[in-house]
Amino acid sequence: MKTPPYSLLWLCLLSFVLGCASQKSALEKSYTQRSEYLEDRNQLIRQDSLMAFDADLQLSPKELAVNRKLLTLRDQMIADYKEANFFPPAHQFLKSKAHIESTDLYQLFQQMPKGGMMHLHPSAGIDFKWLVKKAVEMPNCYVYWEEDDENYTKGQLHFYQQNEAPQGFYPTKEVAHFEQEMYDLLVLDQEVLQDTFDIWEEFELIFQRIGGFFNYQPIYAEYHEVVFDSLLADGVQHVEVRNFPGGLYDLEHAPNSDYYPPDSAIQLLKQVETDIQRRHPQFSLKLIYTSLRFFPEETILQHLEDAYRYRQRYPNFIRGFDLVANEDDGHTTLFFLNNWLKMDSLEKVYGIDMPLYLHDGESDWHTVRNLYDAVLLNSERIGHGFNLNHFPTLQEQIKAKDICLEVCPLSNQILGYVGDLRVHPANYLLRRGVQCTISTDDPAIFGYNGLSYDYWSILLAWQLDLQAIKKLAMNSLIYSSLPENEKEKAMAHWEAQWNEFINYADEFLQ
Ligand SMILES: [Zn+2]
Repeated sequence: MKTPPYSLLWLCLLSFVLGCASQKSALEKSYTQRSEYLEDRNQLIRQDSLMAFDADLQLSPKELAVNRKLLTLRDQMIADYKEANFFPPAHQFLKSKAHIESTDLYQLFQQMPKGGMMHLHPSAGIDFKWLVKKAVEMPNCYVYWEEDDENYTKGQLHFYQQNEAPQGFYPTKEVAHFEQEMYDLLVLDQEVLQDTFDIWEEFELIFQRIGGFFNYQPIYAEYHEVVFDSLLADGVQHVEVRNFPGGLYDLEHAPNSDYYPPDSAIQLLKQVETDIQRRHPQFSLKLIYTSLRFFPEETILQHLEDAYRYRQRYPNFIRGFDLVANEDDGHTTLFFLNNWLKMDSLEKVYGIDMPLYLHDGESDWHTVRNLYDAVLLNSERIGHGFNLNHFPTLQEQIKAKDICLEVCPLSNQILGYVGDLRVHPANYLLRRGVQCTISTDDPAIFGYNGLSYDYWSILLAWQLDLQAIKKLAMNSLIYSSLPENEKEKAMAHWEAQWNEFINYADEFLQ
């Protein structure tokens, strides 16, 4: 290749520099008039607010009045926390839980209709006080109560026939102080959280402890019913659980036996939905068929095929597929590319699509690049998307494809991805127009239930207003996997509840 003469290179460089300079000087306006300066300043602020995720929403006059009262309360609380030199959302949630419950703002959020819960692992969605009590009451419930070994961890629950429990397992009834000590083993405490760089090891042990309880067929339906009732009590009308429906067992049939194929768990969940609808006609439940990212490729393929098979049978109930577990440690989403590339042919075989709801971006590191796959694979929503701030191109793609993030603020804080919630990435992403919903992820392990604590924390930490709160709640139905006709009904119910809530809030916030 012929090199251009140096004089030509210089000319190009000079014109480039001059071009930049003229662009720069066009932006570098100098001001002498205060009004002109303020007008330009307001214009910039307006441009940013038009970009925000809730810019398309207009509040009614009544909502605007409630908003004014809400902002007065919010700003007064922030001022009081400044005075006390302690801003709760900047510290571990467990430090402030009791305080949060004592506030008017928490009482208000408990009354707020929150729409849907888009991101929940139901085994960790229960009140563990209920679980430990039930573990004592139920016959044949055993607990491993010795030092951890390669098979078992202290506190691991399982049901066995009398005299069939492995060494180290004891009937829960016979263990002294079982309820309190077991509860402590199931809930992450502040000390562990403060001193641990990677909380996931402790976190996964908790799932190992409860797995044998959660998957016991005689308790499975009741377990879910307790989870959903607590959410209904907190104003959540629709739930999308991430669940692997295999693995049920009873005293005669071992876990994962043919006796209880995934069909059994799916039928039980559908029955729970019907039972709850008798008491709460607005309630709806959907299942995202979920496997674990630490399994090998062949196992995930098997689970993906199972998901197609059962979605073909229950198309309105099984709404998609996902993989969960620690992203900083387990397989990447790209690792399973061969499986994702088979989805086109699986769709033809089973005659049904399989929307993905990928649990991706739950990481602080920019070298964890699962979000690229979530976007390329057209994930319907993204579970967490926490490290999206590292990837500007993906932010644009996520907006263009209208993918909603399932943001779990307190989960992210408790698991150590962020300390001070004011610097949670979603605080910035919402302002850049990325759509989000708010969920709890694994609330029982974090020592709480319901969505109100998360809303309380972000209203203060992200200085949200009623418009943003309303949009977040609406998004949980707009971006839900509900089929269109169900979505319309759910939205109509939510709107009626919201209007009642506005009347309540108007009086409450006097
Ligand atoms: Zn999750």
